[in-house]
Amino acid sequence: MTHDWRARLSELANDRPLQAVTLIAAVLATAAAAAPVRTPEGPRAAIMTAMERASAPIVQPVQMELVWQGADVDGDGQADFANPTGNEPREHDAYGSGQFGASRDGGVRRHEGVDFIADAGQAVVAPISGYVTKIGYAYAGDGNLKFVEITNPALNLEARAFYVDPDVEVGDTVHVGQPIGEAHTLQRKYPGGMTNHVHLELVDKRGRRIDATNVITAEYRAKPDTYAAD
Ligand SMILES: [Zn+2]
Repeated sequence: MTHDWRARLSELANDRPLQAVTLIAAVLATAAAAAPVRTPEGPRAAIMTAMERASAPIVQPVQMELVWQGADVDGDGQADFANPTGNEPREHDAYGSGQFGASRDGGVRRHEGVDFIADAGQAVVAPISGYVTKIGYAYAGDGNLKFVEITNPALNLEARAFYVDPDVEVGDTVHVGQPIGEAHTLQRKYPGGMTNHVHLELVDKRGRRIDATNVITAEYRAKPDTYAAD
């Protein structure tokens, strides 16, 4: 019957509107694609194929997740850097941008680190392996906002993670990716639109600041076990 598929469509539209939309899309796409092709059965055969296809279980698209990776600079096959919060760098907000080299104080100075977005209280991990060589205050006269400095003599690097309530002490050995404390809120220091973050500075043996996003990068990967239908 000519009207079979139309009847099925309206039936589906009543019961399962989403599936009907999918079916309509499939029918239209297939009919359009099949139009120039002259097969003995004609376009209706293509429509029936589309209907058969549409009644098959719908496989969900693979879910992707952002995975952070640290560069392996000493070539031992292990990452030498880790994202301290696991989040993306802070975008432009009421106080400026969290990118390396971003303008500060109306262009008088530049941002010497990279700000990784944090939830206040979340675990902060060691951006590099090494020794805790200093726990200091980010601002004179403010006892709340601290930084943890880690020194790695083998890599000739220092890392300073700011706005961290440390769980480590000077002299401790830490491994890259190991928790070193919790992120402190910035809302009291910078009210009205500062994105909470961990400010990370990397300093090489000559005292130069390194852009952390050169050694901490992200890529989208398929989440494991997300292939199931429905
Ligand atoms: Zn910063």
